[in-house]
Amino acid sequence: MNLLRPVRTRYAPSPTGFQHIGGLRTALYCYLFAKKHQGTLVLRIEDTDQKRYVAGAEQYILDACQWVGIEFDESPIVGGAFGPYRQSERRHIYKEYIAILLQNGGAYYAFDSAESLEQLRQSHEAAGGSFTYNALNRLQLNNSLTRSADEVAELLRKGADYTVRLKTPEQPEAITFYDQVRGEVTFQSSEIDDKVLYKSDGWPTYHLANVVDDHLMQISHVVRGEEWLSSTPLHVLLYRYFGWSDTMPQFAHLPLLLNPGGRGKLSKRHADQLGFPVFPLAWSNAATSESSNGFREMGFRPAAFTNFLALLGWNDGSEREIFSMDELIAAFDLERVHKAGAKFDFDKAKWFNAQYLKNTPDEILTEDLLHDKQAQGKSRAFLQEAIGMYKDRLTFLHEFWENTTFLFEAPKTYDTEALRKSWKDDTAEHLSQLKNRFEQLPVFDAASVEQCIKDYAAEKNIKMGALMPPLRLALTGIGGGASLPHIAALIERFEVVKRIDNALQNWQNLL
Ligand code: GLU
Repeated sequence: MNLLRPVRTRYAPSPTGFQHIGGLRTALYCYLFAKKHQGTLVLRIEDTDQKRYVAGAEQYILDACQWVGIEFDESPIVGGAFGPYRQSERRHIYKEYIAILLQNGGAYYAFDSAESLEQLRQSHEAAGGSFTYNALNRLQLNNSLTRSADEVAELLRKGADYTVRLKTPEQPEAITFYDQVRGEVTFQSSEIDDKVLYKSDGWPTYHLANVVDDHLMQISHVVRGEEWLSSTPLHVLLYRYFGWSDTMPQFAHLPLLLNPGGRGKLSKRHADQLGFPVFPLAWSNAATSESSNGFREMGFRPAAFTNFLALLGWNDGSEREIFSMDELIAAFDLERVHKAGAKFDFDKAKWFNAQYLKNTPDEILTEDLLHDKQAQGKSRAFLQEAIGMYKDRLTFLHEFWENTTFLFEAPKTYDTEALRKSWKDDTAEHLSQLKNRFEQLPVFDAASVEQCIKDYAAEKNIKMGALMPPLRLALTGIGGGASLPHIAALIERFEVVKRIDNALQNWQNLL
């Protein structure tokens, strides 16, 4: 790596749709790499394709990045010394740079109509081939290479529609560049077509705008999805034609995210079928009335989601999986990004969330719970105690409410099957005796409740296993859950006694 240059990476999304988690992973890797090298992360909005512009997509990108903790040092919002950061606001710049290529022969005007090109495409396809505008046929087409300078000047003066095309090398050559993920990559110049760089409507295409901006914004590392690998030789040519080869950025193309089965690019359609989202945040598009759920809305914690995302295509060389953002920054390395596509695994995403819940201090989880409507009227101390007992058993925090209704109100129903299983002739007698002992305890905390049950069992020469299940059913209505003495202590003695009484009454009809 050329460490003489300050590291400047950019995330350069096109607001043509809502950002998929693949895009967010690109942003994350750009961020990790920039931070690791005390560099700068730029957000550049590549909105040159106005026909595909989706309102709200830019804000969505900002929101999603903010949710996972990616901060941009320069962006359309925070500004910076290399702005503007929306390509639609930089058209005067592209106009200036396309003029340079037209002048030095790196590009040429093409006047072919869309219909004539379509006809060529069709006739080539009918003959079993495909049509590419390139060095082999451009001298038979309608452009400034085949028309005289006067004719071209006249057409331009009359306002004819045109495109400006890249002039790929006349003599076939190998174009080689180094990719930090893939190593040396070579394309033949004959595989590249004379791509359109600019149009007479004053808009550049992706290729021109992207290269000009990466140069002017002094980007040192281009980190982007693998789908752009085949555009890179074209960009290498552009750097050469502009005379910028010496400061060309280093490239790193990230592996695709694949569907869980490993076949094909991770798609919304496939994910919908399997019941998980491919978007970080939920969205809805008023124009198309489409919508999608998001990881945030499903209850993923941003740090867990970021950790999961970082490991989709990278690891630190060990078995380690849990990393905070700072740890990711310290460990991240482009050279360790995998070449093979990364299979998306929703169960793994949930596993990360469960790990994060386990490792998050009770006070922080309580703070989050207090924002939920179910928390109304509940005491902070009570919730903190309860989440401490339950966090190891949850995948998502919201499951807390579903799994612990009995902490807040007496059970209205009982798991009858479990009850029948644990019921013996003397169960009612044991429960009522235990209740009496609970009433006598000097202190009613988890330890004394537990000791009390143990002592009772020892005295009566019965197993704890004969007492606990019916007692649990009486207090919670269900068969499993956190430690019963802790539950009892949390709901307090008065409630415990009441619930045992209730159960003994209600159960008569159930058994
Ligand atoms: N605007 C392109 C995209 O939407 C950026 C590709 C690149 O990073 O060069 O992904």
